[in-house]
Amino acid sequence: MRLSWKLGRVSGIDLFLHPSALLWFFFGAQMSATPLESAVLVVALLGSIVLHELGHALMARQYGIDTADITLYIFGGVARLERMPRSSGPELLIALAGPAVNFAIVLALGAILALTSLATPWPLPLLVNILTINLGLGIFNLIPAFPMDGGRVLRALLSGWLGRVKATETAAALGRGLAIAGGLYFLVSGNYQAIILARFVDMAGSLELQQVRAEGRGLSIPGGFVNLPDPPPGCRWADSGNGILRPVPIMMNPMRRDRSWS
Ligand SMILES: [Zn+2]
Repeated sequence: MRLSWKLGRVSGIDLFLHPSALLWFFFGAQMSATPLESAVLVVALLGSIVLHELGHALMARQYGIDTADITLYIFGGVARLERMPRSSGPELLIALAGPAVNFAIVLALGAILALTSLATPWPLPLLVNILTINLGLGIFNLIPAFPMDGGRVLRALLSGWLGRVKATETAAALGRGLAIAGGLYFLVSGNYQAIILARFVDMAGSLELQQVRAEGRGLSIPGGFVNLPDPPPGCRWADSGNGILRPVPIMMNPMRRDRSWS
């Protein structure tokens, strides 16, 4: 049974609201002078998060990856992609697409504010607040704490020369360091909501690292990855042609001039 409420469907993707997201209305009560304005700002914040997630989902669609749904939680939005991109180019662009949406909103609102301030002295404080929210969302998500967008960008950039597993380990280690540093800072400053977020980042990072390590140990076969036990020493798993995997000795290919094993 799904705990979240369905809000609707955007671009063929179901949109859900987890009850925990309602806490935003509690935490956001101080965002503005009047309760109504605060509520409007919280709705604008949640809307901006949805657009951010749609940025990821629609970029993923460009690479043939569908998104099951988008859900809003207290710690932010989650777009459930049917699979993670395995190559670094698509991963980089899918990760950047979310913050790019927020920066596009900043530019659009900035242009509107620049134009309207010429015509009227009214400063449109609501638009200024929504602009600030989106600027914050864009910058915050680019913090290189894997699995946040900035951490995924880092992993994609490192994958080129470290390989996917080592790049994920490096990005996850940096993510854990930032989460611990952030957690301690928030503990001192009494921001308990942010401590939960830091813990979530750390947990999600190590979960995904375990997954990537398991995939790294497994073999790529048609239909997906299988997770295999380590092969006997000096051997690797090879497909004998009929889908049955057997260990074969690892041999250096004398024709190769680099030191890679074939
Ligand atoms: Zn994102």
